[in-house]
Amino acid sequence: MKRETILVIGANGQIGTALLPRLHAIYGLRNVIGADLRRPDREQGQFEWLDATQADELAALVRRHRVTQIYHLAAILSAKGESDPIWAWNLNMQTLLNVLEVARIHQIRKVFVPSSIAAFGDDAPKYETPQTAVLDPATVYGISKVAAENWSLYYHKRYGLDVRSLRFPGLISYQSMPGGGTTDYAVAIFHAAVQGKSYDCFLAENTLLPMMYMDDALRATLELMEAPESRISVRTSYNLTGMSFTPADLTASIQTYFPEFTTRYLPDFRQAIADSWPKTIDDTVARRDWGWKPDYDLTRMTQEMITRLSAVYQ
Ligand code: NAD
Repeated sequence: MKRETILVIGANGQIGTALLPRLHAIYGLRNVIGADLRRPDREQGQFEWLDATQADELAALVRRHRVTQIYHLAAILSAKGESDPIWAWNLNMQTLLNVLEVARIHQIRKVFVPSSIAAFGDDAPKYETPQTAVLDPATVYGISKVAAENWSLYYHKRYGLDVRSLRFPGLISYQSMPGGGTTDYAVAIFHAAVQGKSYDCFLAENTLLPMMYMDDALRATLELMEAPESRISVRTSYNLTGMSFTPADLTASIQTYFPEFTTRYLPDFRQAIADSWPKTIDDTVARRDWGWKPDYDLTRMTQEMITRLSAVYQ
C-alpha cells in the first residue's frame, strides 16, 4: 500500500463517487479523505465537511490530516454555471486558488485539477481538435477552465508545484447522476431506458460530442498521477478522448437491448453550448507522453451501463 494521504475535494460528485473506491484500493481506506459541501448519500470511507471557498478551513484540514496529494473536483459545471455566471466564476476560481495556495504553502506533492472540452470555443477546429487549439470558450464554466489551466501552469513554472490536468470530455457513469453539464443526457438516457421509459433529450439528435466511460476517465486520472514527472510535458491540461457519438447513435445503441426504446429531441439552451464544443478530440500528446489508450467504445460502454443500471433498478 502506498504511503500518501489523499484529499479529494468535491468527493460526492459524479467523478468523486466513482474515484474514491479506486483511491481506497491503492492508498487504503484510512489514507483517503473525501471532502464536500454535501454529505455523502452512502458512506465511502472518511468524510470531512468542507467549503473549499474558505481558505482557512481547507488549510486546517490539510494540516490536521497531513495531506500529501489533492484531487480538486469541486466546480460548478457548464449548464448550471450559465444560470448565474458570476457565482460560478467566483466558486470555480476561489476554490482553485485556495487549492493551489494551500498546495504551495504546505508542500503538497501532487495536485490534480480537471479541465474540460468546454475550454474550447467556436474558433477551435471542431474535428480532431488539437492540443494547442485556440481557447475561446462560450460559457463561464469554459472561461474558468481556461483560467484554471493557466493558473496551474503558472504555479508549476513559478513554484515548481506538480499540478496535473486532463481536459475531460462528457463522462458517463452508473455510480451517480451528473452535476449539471451539457453531456448529462448521455447518463439520464440510460436511467430512462432500463426503467422502460422513453427519453426527452435536451440536445438535437445529430449533436456529435466527445464522451468517455467513467472507467476510462478514472484510469486516465490515475495513470497521469502515477506517471514520472519527466513524462509530463503539458502543465495546462491534456486533451483526452474515448469516443464521440450523437444522441441518435446512443439511442440506436440502446435499442439493440431495448428495441421499443424511443427518444424525443427537444433541444434547449444547452444546444448552443454543445454546438460551441469540439466534436472529436486529438489526444496524441497524452498517448505519446504517458501512454494513454481508451478501453471503451460506444458498444462496450452501452453494455456496461445497461448491465450495471439494470441491477440497480431490479
Ligand atoms: P459534480 O458537480 O458532480 O460534483 C462536484 C462536487 O463539488 C459536488 O459534490 C459539490 O457538492 C461539490 N462542491 C461544490 N462546491 C463546493 C465547495 N465550495 N466546497 C466543497 N465542495 C464543493 O462534478 P463532477 O462531474 O464530479 O466534476 C468534477 C470535476 O471534473 C469538475 O472540475 C468538472 O468541471 C470536471 N469535469 C467533469 C466532467 C463530467 O462530465 N462529469 C467533464 C469535464 C470536466
